Amino acid sequence: MFQRSEHGYGQAGLTLTLNASHALPTPRTGWRGLIDRWAEYAGRLEWVPDLGANVGSPSWFRGLLTCTALCLLPILFLPEVRPLPVAVPAPADNQAWEEIRAQTIAPAAWGSDTGKHMAATDAVAALANAPERPTLELTASLGQGDGFARVLERAGVGEGEAHHVANLVSGATNLGDLKPGTQIKLMLGRRTNRNVARPLDFLAFRARLDLGLVLKREGSGLVLQRLPIAVDRTPMRIQGQVGDSLYRSARAAGVPARAVESYIRAIASKLSLGSDVNADARFDLIVEHARAATGETEVGKLLYAGLYRGSRRTQLLQWNVGGRSDWYEASGVGQSRGGGFAQPVAYARISSGFGMRFHPLLGYTRLHRGVDYAAPYGAPIRAVSDGLVANAGWAGGYGNQVRISHSNMLGTSYSHMSRIVVSPGTRVFQGQVIGYVGSTGLSTGPHLHFEAYRSGQVVNPTKISFASTSMLSGNELAQFRAKLSALLRLPVNGSDAVSRPIAEAR
Ligand SMILES: [Zn+2]
Repeated sequence: MFQRSEHGYGQAGLTLTLNASHALPTPRTGWRGLIDRWAEYAGRLEWVPDLGANVGSPSWFRGLLTCTALCLLPILFLPEVRPLPVAVPAPADNQAWEEIRAQTIAPAAWGSDTGKHMAATDAVAALANAPERPTLELTASLGQGDGFARVLERAGVGEGEAHHVANLVSGATNLGDLKPGTQIKLMLGRRTNRNVARPLDFLAFRARLDLGLVLKREGSGLVLQRLPIAVDRTPMRIQGQVGDSLYRSARAAGVPARAVESYIRAIASKLSLGSDVNADARFDLIVEHARAATGETEVGKLLYAGLYRGSRRTQLLQWNVGGRSDWYEASGVGQSRGGGFAQPVAYARISSGFGMRFHPLLGYTRLHRGVDYAAPYGAPIRAVSDGLVANAGWAGGYGNQVRISHSNMLGTSYSHMSRIVVSPGTRVFQGQVIGYVGSTGLSTGPHLHFEAYRSGQVVNPTKISFASTSMLSGNELAQFRAKLSALLRLPVNGSDAVSRPIAEAR
């Protein structure tokens, strides 16, 4: 909007031109002239001055007045507020109030003393003693370290009968194998007087996943009835991606906690969980699984542990060799690995080689019978080749030592260990962790003293080659492969497992 002062000044030429082209109107007289003057005055007036500027000036007060008038105008039009007429119920008298109160539900905290209370009349006769229920139905549960007869006695079965029932049941199943928490349904019958125990009329419980037992009174004796239950023992296979946490991902995929723990132990014996298992890797587990026709499930031990990282596949199968169950790597089990020397401690440098040297603790020069690897305390020590643990334990100046005999009259020993994780008679694979670096025995600091033998004579370990033979061969190898391929043919039912809660085998 133009201010009036913007016209004319500085633009005198324009104003003159305008005045020249427009003839000024002749001023009118009378009331018309009054209107003209008023209109001219009103046009000049600034109706809405800025109330932030020129505070206190006459035009500011006029602006304030205009503002107040504009605010008051809508207030004048506000409608009137009037209360609505409604019906108010008459207050209930004492009797009506009691009548209503009897039909309400009072909270237990107030004593729940509602309802109409009837006083006993003369027609009511007191009983000398209340009658007993004819039968009593109850459920007893077997505790940890509990006895079957003891459970029955606790439930009210007589001592003699409880032992008789336990004898009957032990003919059908081993009482020691009953799981703690087993629920036993009981029905106790009528007794002749209150001083004797009620007789057992009926008993039913689940003895095993595949067996239910029922005991019924027929005539004077109890008859045991077996109820076989069909059980599907197809192992369960679950696959998934490792993601942030192998444990959490496997648990989320429906793998029971104990199976995940076995899986991690199995994988950790062959791989480093920290560096070899990344988020993109996929896990593949097969666990013993039993599904009863009645819906219960039981999960047993881990049978197969697989870890797939792109093209690299680690496939471990639990296999029993010479009475010892162990994890066998599927890819390497049938092959004899080529010769060569694997280092017993990864990424370790040789701090002292084989040959004559001055012994720092003994103080004289003698033959250093092995190779020393400088490694931090606790670094894992791995078997350099497949073999059998001949010795594991304290060996004087060698400290904690593991001796392994390999094929071709070769042997190795690992000394000064802080911890040994194998025992004599264990079969070990190349690369399997047998203990951890330490400084036990005659040692100045954590290192591994590694010796090698040929026909019992010490040799330079870096100069010999271990041509390992296969762990399994012939018939056993064929069985191993058949079992592995049978397991790997199982469908992956990870998605099925997620939706169904899994009861872990106790
Ligand atoms: Zn040494």
